[in-house]
Amino acid sequence: MKGASLFLVALLGACGASTSSAVVRQAHHDNTVTGQNNTSAIRVVTTFSTLNSFVEAVGGSYVTVHNLVPIGASPETYQPTPQDITTLADAQLLVENGTGIEVWLQHTISTASNPNLRILILSDGLKHIDHNPHLWMDPVLAGLYVGKVARALSLMDPPHTADYQRNAAAYQQKLVALQNEIAKSIATIPPQRRTMIVFHNAWQYYNDRFGIRTIGVIEVSPGQEPNPAYIASLVDLARKNNVRAVFSEPEYSPKIAQALAKSAGIRTVSDLYDDSIANNALVHDYISMLRYDTGVIVRALR
Ligand SMILES: [Zn+2]
Repeated sequence: MKGASLFLVALLGACGASTSSAVVRQAHHDNTVTGQNNTSAIRVVTTFSTLNSFVEAVGGSYVTVHNLVPIGASPETYQPTPQDITTLADAQLLVENGTGIEVWLQHTISTASNPNLRILILSDGLKHIDHNPHLWMDPVLAGLYVGKVARALSLMDPPHTADYQRNAAAYQQKLVALQNEIAKSIATIPPQRRTMIVFHNAWQYYNDRFGIRTIGVIEVSPGQEPNPAYIASLVDLARKNNVRAVFSEPEYSPKIAQALAKSAGIRTVSDLYDDSIANNALVHDYISMLRYDTGVIVRALR
């Protein structure tokens, strides 16, 4: 644990150039390594699958990436397994989101007891809204995550710094294009219809970026079912604000969202992805996920 904390400090203190910290080890020097089956690739573990894209895009063939929370599960209510402890015990870099979404993680890190584990907390130092951890849902903030991944990998593996920086810049370009593409799509929704009631508030940063009003959130605390009076107040808000749909993710039971939608006379959309990508070609990484979600939102609101 002590080693992990120290590296965290080193990463936070590093604004790109500093590689002098004694706790940062050079991971490998082999320029010939390629692909997932090379044994000298940096073993990176992410907490959940949406974060994988950032590490894969920056690290390329110099990293292997494994997510702890399985695709289709919620990082807020995840129960870690003994396998997760084994995975962390063998990992070199843990990439977590932070801002309280991985409440189960600290215990897993302590149990893994890996003195060589470095930790990168992607949301650290970024401005957040009401302790909402879903910063990555805004492509602009995702670009900042990517920059942090590049700095972390460069500190661990200085010989490939130029590669990491180039990969990060290329991916950040794609994120800018994605942001423009989403903004254009959202612009096709009449302004008064740009409203959402969501099951859990993964959409705050996306909505703020693209001018959608979050009218209500069904499950304010992860795993805690709202009471009927609260749902009634959301039905009220839906009617008053011209809300056309309640949005949820496949990992949650659709029951409450459906009941709310029925009472308010609006529709339910239950295939948004945010905390998890999906095992299908349409939602297989971060960019395809946001593109898919945007299509779903636009079709529901337009
Ligand atoms: Zn979430």
